Amino acid sequence: MRVDVTVIGSGFAGSILAWILAARGRSVLLVDRAKHPRFAIGESSTPIADTILKRLGETYRLKPLEDLSCWGTWQDSNPQLPCGRKRGFSYLIHDSGQRFQETAFGEKSLLVAASPTDFRSDTHWHRSTLDEFLWSQAVKAGVMDRTGYEIIDISRCEIDSYGNRESYKIRCAAAGKVRSRTQEEPSFEDVFEVETDWIIDASGSSGSLSKFFPVQDRTHQLKTRTHAWFGHFGGVKPWVEVVDASRRVDFENPFSVDDAAQHHLLSDGWMWMLRFNHGVTSVGYTAPVDSPLVGLDVLARRYPMIGDMVGSAECVAPDSGIVQTKRLQRWLEPVAASRCVMLPTASLTLDPLHSTGIAHALAGVERLATLILDAKDHRVELARYSQVLMNEARFLDRLVNLAYRNLARFDRFTVACMVYFAAAIRCEETYQAGMTPSHLWNAGDEAFCEFVHWVDSVLDQADGVMFERIRDRMERWNNAGLMDPDVGNRFAYTATK
Ligand SMILES: Cc1cc2nc3c(=O)[nH]c(=O)nc-3n(C[C@H](O)[C@H](O)[C@H](O)COP(=O)(O)OP(=O)(O)OC[C@H]3O[C@@H](n4cnc5c(N)ncnc54)[C@H](O)[C@@H]3O)c2cc1C
Repeated sequence: MRVDVTVIGSGFAGSILAWILAARGRSVLLVDRAKHPRFAIGESSTPIADTILKRLGETYRLKPLEDLSCWGTWQDSNPQLPCGRKRGFSYLIHDSGQRFQETAFGEKSLLVAASPTDFRSDTHWHRSTLDEFLWSQAVKAGVMDRTGYEIIDISRCEIDSYGNRESYKIRCAAAGKVRSRTQEEPSFEDVFEVETDWIIDASGSSGSLSKFFPVQDRTHQLKTRTHAWFGHFGGVKPWVEVVDASRRVDFENPFSVDDAAQHHLLSDGWMWMLRFNHGVTSVGYTAPVDSPLVGLDVLARRYPMIGDMVGSAECVAPDSGIVQTKRLQRWLEPVAASRCVMLPTASLTLDPLHSTGIAHALAGVERLATLILDAKDHRVELARYSQVLMNEARFLDRLVNLAYRNLARFDRFTVACMVYFAAAIRCEETYQAGMTPSHLWNAGDEAFCEFVHWVDSVLDQADGVMFERIRDRMERWNNAGLMDPDVGNRFAYTATK
């Protein structure tokens, strides 16, 4: 068997890339050790992610991708796929033992809009059903499906049996049936071999190519150091139901606090709550690794409003119960060998704060589709791809770490978020102008990177005067009026759609 491209991992990113390549006439093998449907995390899409999804749909004439790029068209085209409405990002800070209360609007809350209307809003992706849908579309388009298999060996062929130069021979076996070399070989039905020009690692945090190639591990260079637990829950009450009527923070909000990636900031970490439209809510808690990973029951007792929201909630997925992680971060050099390359999310796992993973994965899909289909010199293009990813990883790590360092001071944490949103919105504006940014999050703009570097060096000690200086220096990238002290931490500007 011989294919042009082998994609390892049939998550949304691997499935979309495989689908695009098959739609453009390439022979594609899609290998995944799991079978669909399977639980997956990473659910909150963003304007950058949805813009790229729409572009991919338009460029490669894959209408379902366009339809899934906003809430309204998703509901019209695929109402059977559960998802959540995401109008923006909401942040609420809680004091231990106290109910949420603000003496001034925005004192303990921050809302940043991402979409102007419900119809055009972003979505939370119920990954198990969405990934299964995208995988099935890829298979319908002609992708050779080998879900339930994993790669057990990769070898390089100077010239393969078809006379092609520089290809790879990969050996796959049914997942879970791989025996060590000293044991009996797996049976014939469980193993197959294929020759392939390209190998794309879309295996997410597994980074499976690194098992076969000496890939440089840069994880130790990341400043962000967090761990997490997460799961899907039934019976989580919306914020608007538990907040005391007289103190509703959603009054005069640009969107409902619940139609958002909801961040509950606690003393040592933060919780996310993402509501889907079929009664299920994704709930997770992330904290720096030097803080204990406190359980949901403890958080519910410590923070009364969290208790009100999750008091009668039950974990409904995954079947094995709440997932608890070690340190989340992992960073590998993305190009393992000639034509053996990782998607951004196989190269970098950073952190759920700022919800950057889906956008990064989709940018990688767009870049690699162009590279595989059109590159004149793939070596030059792969070197550029790698350099861009390295820059983005460093930049994101700085932004995320800045926010964690200031988690306990809401005014500083807010500034850290404002800097992130300035980065994201500038990137969205570039896409809106019909251009393709060299880097996501404005990470290719040297002056902006210097500005972020400077904020990183001053924010930990900053107060009102310094906040003004930061706002002044951010001015040239700030069409959204971020850090405006007169809007009660409600930012309604949206660049996209
Ligand atoms: C706790 C947490 C919360 C997150 N929240 C967000 C968020 O809100 N928003 C956001 O944008 N991003 C978020 N992310 C990031 C997001 O999860 C990832 O960016 C996204 O899932 C990557 O998608 P993917 O398709 O590249 O990989 P995945 O979804 O991880 O899919 C990888 C596939 O590869 C398969 N696989 C793995 N190893 C092998 C192997 N050796 N052989 C064959 N197959 C293999 C797996 O079975 C899987 O199907 C979060 C990440 C974490 C850890």
